Amino acid sequence: MNQPGQFTIRQARLGDYGRMMRLINGIFFQGRRVFEKKWAHIYLPPEKAYRWGHLLYEGDELIGHLGIYPLWLKVGGALLKTAGIGAVGTRPDRRGQGVMSRLLQYGCEHMRQDGYDISILWGDRFRYGNYGWEPVGEAVEWVLDTRHVDRREAPPVRLRPYDPARDLVRVWRLWNAQPFGTWQPRDRLELILRRPDWKTFVTAGGPFAFAVCQFAADRTAVCVDRVVGPPAVVQGILLRLAGSRPRDGRPASAAEPTPHCEGAAHRFRTRAMVKVQDGCDTRCSYCIVPDARGVPRSVPADRVLAECEQLLGDGAREIVLTGINLGNYESCGLDLPGLVAKVASTGVDRVRLSSVEPLSCTVGLAAVMREHPNVVRHLHLPLQSGSDAVLEAMGRRYTVRRFEDEVFELREAVPDVVLTTDVIAGFPGETPEDHAATVDVCDRVGFSRLH
Ligand code: SF4
Repeated sequence: MNQPGQFTIRQARLGDYGRMMRLINGIFFQGRRVFEKKWAHIYLPPEKAYRWGHLLYEGDELIGHLGIYPLWLKVGGALLKTAGIGAVGTRPDRRGQGVMSRLLQYGCEHMRQDGYDISILWGDRFRYGNYGWEPVGEAVEWVLDTRHVDRREAPPVRLRPYDPARDLVRVWRLWNAQPFGTWQPRDRLELILRRPDWKTFVTAGGPFAFAVCQFAADRTAVCVDRVVGPPAVVQGILLRLAGSRPRDGRPASAAEPTPHCEGAAHRFRTRAMVKVQDGCDTRCSYCIVPDARGVPRSVPADRVLAECEQLLGDGAREIVLTGINLGNYESCGLDLPGLVAKVASTGVDRVRLSSVEPLSCTVGLAAVMREHPNVVRHLHLPLQSGSDAVLEAMGRRYTVRRFEDEVFELREAVPDVVLTTDVIAGFPGETPEDHAATVDVCDRVGFSRLH
């Protein structure tokens, strides 16, 4: 029997499985049995899954886990023997005592001995960099709505839900035909496609293609994990998944058999989002948006108005104008306040804005709010910090004083305007005094809600 204070690291045995799952579900999901459900292809059945676990015991207590999952990574024509690292965790009461460092050192040695070509993990690059992992790029998750898909070229595509008995072999072949990604044996892919949070569709006629995705709870957006098939079909599938419709206003496939692929008219009850702007070149030091979304672009005002008219015709009562950096909106000399005024004049009951960067055009927006009662008197102004030093480190282009002056002007113009904001706590280099200054600014401004 091991003594307290004595650490043992070893590969899990079948008898460890129950404790191992309790530990990682406890660390990551407050004890709910999520690993077995969400990643059944890794954690079930127990007689197989226990082998991926590497455990650190102190005495007889299990306090740390490191998962090493064998994969084949496809890179062009080559298959690399790959260790996927996952469920790296220490029991909360034993954190900060070097448990994970011991496990990672052990894990690296274990992978070398087992002849892995490469190992991959998603996580804190600075921390894992100490053990030899290197960043290979940023992972960007694309959530689609109708504004992301070019509607002009896409051919109509009908989808039906994936049926394992009928489609597994074809999906499996297509999945593994991709030059990049993971190579999956058939039985593991079957489990992957059964993940409860994923939906898989295949084309219902024409060239075979499939899509794996997750839907937002209200089905207003879809997060696409992968769409595989001939390029011309892929665009059509994205269009269908985004619930869009062609330009003539008819649903893309009125006869669609699946409830997951509704037409645009079903995608909102009374509030509809209209994306009018994308991209940002402000380059705040913490933000990936400029790399992920590119330079600022605006949707021409006539297209925005046409879209609003269509949505009103479909029953929308409220239009929310959205964008990455909405204050940058510009179309043939029309700025954001000008656009809001035009949308407000369409007869919509309410026009609302998503967040607007401080100092962009808020005074102009106040004037529009006064002139158009259907423009909602609410602005989301991301403060981020109440310390000038932190704002400078963040690369934000205003000082606390200017932010507060703007709020003052805004409230003079529209006394009942409601303000909400975003704040980043614990930004690198932030001191307790900086944080206290942020709290003070929030108190002084009296935001109605903080993110
Ligand atoms: S302004 Fe907003 S979107 Fe642009 S870089 Fe800064 S945080 Fe990111």
